[in-house]
Amino acid sequence: MITRIKDITDHLEQIAPLRYQESYDNAGLLTGNPNDEVRAVLISLDCTEEVVEDAIEKGCNLIVAHHPIIFKGLKSLTGKNYVERTIIKAIQNNIAIYASHTNLDSVVNGVNTKIADKLGLQEQRILVNKPQTLMQLVTFAPVENTEQVLAALHAAGAGNIGEYSNCSFQVQGKGRFLPSENANPTIGRSGQPEQVQENRIEVIFPAYLQGKIMAALKAAHPYEEVAHYLYNLENQNQEVGIGIMGELQEPLQEEAFLSYLKDKMDLQGLRYTSVGAKSIKRVAVCGGAGSFLIKDALRQGADALVTGDVKYHEFFDAEGRMMIADIGHYESEVFTKEIFYDTISKNFTNFAVYLTNVNTNPVRYTF
Ligand SMILES: [Zn+2]
Repeated sequence: MITRIKDITDHLEQIAPLRYQESYDNAGLLTGNPNDEVRAVLISLDCTEEVVEDAIEKGCNLIVAHHPIIFKGLKSLTGKNYVERTIIKAIQNNIAIYASHTNLDSVVNGVNTKIADKLGLQEQRILVNKPQTLMQLVTFAPVENTEQVLAALHAAGAGNIGEYSNCSFQVQGKGRFLPSENANPTIGRSGQPEQVQENRIEVIFPAYLQGKIMAALKAAHPYEEVAHYLYNLENQNQEVGIGIMGELQEPLQEEAFLSYLKDKMDLQGLRYTSVGAKSIKRVAVCGGAGSFLIKDALRQGADALVTGDVKYHEFFDAEGRMMIADIGHYESEVFTKEIFYDTISKNFTNFAVYLTNVNTNPVRYTF
């Protein structure tokens, strides 16, 4: 059996659907043919020219990265900067580049869960939920067809609530309709009013699955016209949002927390705001640039926010009530590679998966 690039990207999108990326982002397949057979996969945080060279050396024709190398529009491809040179080299060598970026930041078991796990945070929950990611479907099916309709909806991904799957609600009633002369009714006859014992079926589902769920409904439902209502929900989705909050097993004093951070995140150094004698127990994390979460972290009682790319004036917003720990953009996200590595090597066994040995961090430190 061969594995195509699309099989890998579909798998990664089950974990981090592209619909969850921010509007400014460009996650997805950036170069390459989705139908090509996968020879081997290379994993990196960034895709640079050196990473493409590493892929060539290792015989990989798919690079899976966190940061999309194509981020803004390109009007020409002449090799005048590192972005263009990377893309040209990838295309010339038939290498596909795939990026899972802010969509992977926005899901449980993504970038931020990885950081929270590294820090051993307990009782993890999303810091800021992403709004409007859930929908409801209400449909009506003859009593005897209800099970087949429900089975199809569940198979397409409807009816999952937290740790519960196959969730639905139904109530029986009377459906009435009048088929036109041109109709081809499953039950009843053209021009004759009809009434049928039907179940009203309700399920909840993630909005990005709307197309798949509607297709499954139409395929499984016996009627020519499938009566249904679709609703956008304001319900919070426990699985989708930015930042993770959790608790350290034991509260730590500032000095102890700093060395704990350095040890767990493999840091040479970090920038931080002091909380003085206050101990740290509740910790918020956000990989990459997370200073936009300072106010939310404070409001939710975080003792520390661990992130990267914090600007001078943003440090003041901690007001001495919370430690802002800027551990570096690269350092906060580097373990994201493990997410790709673990899931691809666990779910696909007919090709090799490599972690790049290129250190793509453009920032160096001197003390
Ligand atoms: Zn990043």
